[in-house]
Amino acid sequence: MRLLIVEDNEELARLLAKGLQAAGFDADRLAGVDESRAALQTTRYAALILDLGLPDGDGLSILRELRQRKDPIPVLLLTARGGVNDRVSGLRAGADDYLVKPFAFEELLARLEALLRRPGQLLGRSLQIANVVFDTESRQMLIDDQPQFLSARETAVLELLMRRKGHVVSKKLVEDHIFGLSGDVVSNAIEVYVHRLRKELADCGARVKINTVRGVGYVIMESK
Ligand code: CA
Repeated sequence: MRLLIVEDNEELARLLAKGLQAAGFDADRLAGVDESRAALQTTRYAALILDLGLPDGDGLSILRELRQRKDPIPVLLLTARGGVNDRVSGLRAGADDYLVKPFAFEELLARLEALLRRPGQLLGRSLQIANVVFDTESRQMLIDDQPQFLSARETAVLELLMRRKGHVVSKKLVEDHIFGLSGDVVSNAIEVYVHRLRKELADCGARVKINTVRGVGYVIMESK
């Protein structure tokens, strides 16, 4: 599923694209009003993540144009702290939701997924490997149809790995995903969450395993 990120803060845009790719999306990045307008006319995106203050104009003009031509693409605005007027004008102009900077990546992902799950949108509700089902709406894990309870961070690790099942997810991406863009990561924190998650899964009889790919990251797969 392809998303467009319109954000002129290059570092933020890069981190968002990286995180979204880790979560299983394709993400294009643009930084200006004109080029974004052109891209939205030629490419069918599943959703738009839109910063308002852009070097060549106001992101709102992109949003207004989309809605004028009755394009229903879900739009998530990124607004500056205290930008109450921006938020109000954004919602009035047809934005579906907004996030105030700075935000944790996990929150952006959750909001985005909520938008994509609206009727007529594209994202499936549940991820499954063997007897493990993860409901992305309630963020609930079920094993053999029985609800199981995990901490918020273990849940986030599980969801990320399940979205990329069979693919190695780098440790850095897990960190970005779990700790957001704040970067306050204790050095072995990810190992600890993965270790706990493995134990929880084993205790509940899950027929999946999380393998460590040394020096790279983690991969979840069905266990034989
Ligand atoms: Ca900006």
